[in-house]
Amino acid sequence: MDDRTGDPRPSWDEYFMALATVVATRSNCSRRHVGAVIVRNRHILSTGYNGTPHGVRNCFAGGCPRCARTTESGDHLEECLCVHAEQNAICQAALHGHAIEGGTIYVTLSPCLTCAKLIINSGISEVVYQGEYAFLDTVKDIFRQSGVKHRRLKATPLKQPLTASDGNRLPSKTIRQSKRRTVK
Ligand SMILES: [Zn+2]
Ligand SMILES: [Zn+2]
Repeated sequence: MDDRTGDPRPSWDEYFMALATVVATRSNCSRRHVGAVIVRNRHILSTGYNGTPHGVRNCFAGGCPRCARTTESGDHLEECLCVHAEQNAICQAALHGHAIEGGTIYVTLSPCLTCAKLIINSGISEVVYQGEYAFLDTVKDIFRQSGVKHRRLKATPLKQPLTASDGNRLPSKTIRQSKRRTVK
């Protein structure tokens, strides 16, 4: 049970999703910014954001002709050069030799069918997503069949960190309380 009484910090879910949101800011796609973080035992294994493959001109600079056109969302995906955030996070793990089996992927948007298939076969066991983008019944069904859990995490505003000058004003009550509870 996650007893967070008196703990002023973000939960682990909020923390990793906030990191995924920061990762998304590096997206080079002109249409949509998505970020993903793969975690196991509260340890970050890999991150990814969407955009064109390494060495290919950035999407925002015209690198992906499909994104550059006024294409309806979801149309002509087979022509899209942009790699999705989940795909890039899985590729980064492969590139650097990090096993992600049993991990959790935090992603700022629910996964598409292609990403769902890769998530399943890379051994990831849980998907935590924030926004919902055409979360297909097919995706939910293959997750159910393969035993991959999924849940939506609502966006929560993250508290600003204490600055050095604020540090002196951290209420002693909070410190005493946090010492009593088990630190997770
Ligand atoms: Zn793009
Ligand atoms: Zn995808």
